[in-house]
Amino acid sequence: MLSDFLIIGGGVSGLMAALLASKKRKVTILEKPNRNFQLAKRILVSGNGRANFYNADLLDKKTYDTALFQDVKDIVLDGKTNYAKDTLDYLSNELGLASYQEGKLYYPFFNKSECLYDLLIGELKKSSVKVIEGRATKLDYHNKNVSYFDIDNKRKDIYFNDVLISVGGRSYDRDDYSYSLLDSLGLDYLPYSSALCPIMTKEKIPFYLKNCRLKGKLSLYCEERLIHEEEGEILFKEDGLSGIAVFNTTIYIHKLIEEGKKGFILKIDYSSHDGASINFKTNPNCYPPFLRQYLHDCNYNNGEPLIFTFKDFYSFRYSQVSYGGIYLNQIDKKTLSVKNQDHLYLAGEMLNESFPCGGYNMGLSLLEGYKVGKTLCQKIN
Ligand SMILES: Cc1cc2nc3c(=O)[nH]c(=O)nc-3n(C[C@H](O)[C@H](O)[C@H](O)COP(=O)(O)OP(=O)(O)OC[C@H]3O[C@@H](n4cnc5c(N)ncnc54)[C@H](O)[C@@H]3O)c2cc1C
Repeated sequence: MLSDFLIIGGGVSGLMAALLASKKRKVTILEKPNRNFQLAKRILVSGNGRANFYNADLLDKKTYDTALFQDVKDIVLDGKTNYAKDTLDYLSNELGLASYQEGKLYYPFFNKSECLYDLLIGELKKSSVKVIEGRATKLDYHNKNVSYFDIDNKRKDIYFNDVLISVGGRSYDRDDYSYSLLDSLGLDYLPYSSALCPIMTKEKIPFYLKNCRLKGKLSLYCEERLIHEEEGEILFKEDGLSGIAVFNTTIYIHKLIEEGKKGFILKIDYSSHDGASINFKTNPNCYPPFLRQYLHDCNYNNGEPLIFTFKDFYSFRYSQVSYGGIYLNQIDKKTLSVKNQDHLYLAGEMLNESFPCGGYNMGLSLLEGYKVGKTLCQKIN
């Protein structure tokens, strides 16, 4: 079978690319078989069922001058074009997505992931895009061919003029992840590890602390240098810490590990949050019992920040994104095609780019899918 534009992986980025490209190209999506066979399933679980799908920072050019985002600057900004703005305009104006902003986060207007999901799937059904159920295992760029296993586990081949690989990372529900497809590309990549996940600590968490929540400021230190701090709610787990602020530190810890750094300390300062503060001299009796007990057992003074030492990340099953993937220096950021292989495009979480919680990850996947879709419309083979 020959597909004009083949998309491997009908997730967030693949779906966007398909919708855009189908205006001018004959598009086929090859999606891994799954229960109830759903495309872009991650939208439904994102943001705890609310799908915070975008962040206002993505629209702001200054964001891309910060260390975390500078690698994607040339993907998002191209001369006068701001792809973050164009992607959001497409979703809102052309597809009719109603959304609202809470702080910097964008949510569907009715606060439900299904609203974004149904919109994209509804558009797909109206389009000419063909969907095939099958798990791709190998790409042969030279022969423009992809091998896959269909639902009956029969090995099949499909040929393409252009191909987008948008198979995402390996977090959450991808226990069966295999590197065979990635390996067949012959590109350099950083093997995936779990990110935006809870972390295990060297300190034991006593039974009375488990499942307790403490609001405050979480600071990450490496070699006594402050790396990141963020206000939030910390959830104590059996063997570590969880919560959005903790999830976000994992991105920084991964980057430091990549630089060869070790020794990460997390400090929880619970003396103020949301503009309110506590004076441990005048308010010593309003501490919750679990905190009072822990301070006593670990010989902390009232008000003294709690210190935890990073031991490990929780496994993929507990992670919202994976850290790692194909290094961006092998990609032409103007088109998202692989350098010197201009029929092969890559987008989304499979690339070595991961960001904190708050709409950045899905937002950039939507954006990259949009960009590839646009490019493919303009391209004549
Ligand atoms: C629990 C959870 C909550 C999240 N919440 C948020 C949030 O609130 N905000 C946010 O911005 N981000 C959130 N994310 C992250 C966001 O969902 C991802 O970054 C985004 O979905 C990545 O899009 P993608 O297209 O790269 O990959 P995916 O959406 O993961 O799509 C990849 C697709 O490829 C398919 N596939 C994989 N391998 C193969 C193969 N070999 N052959 C064929 N098909 C294949 C998969 O089945 C999947 O459909 C969350 C993630 C999780 C797990």
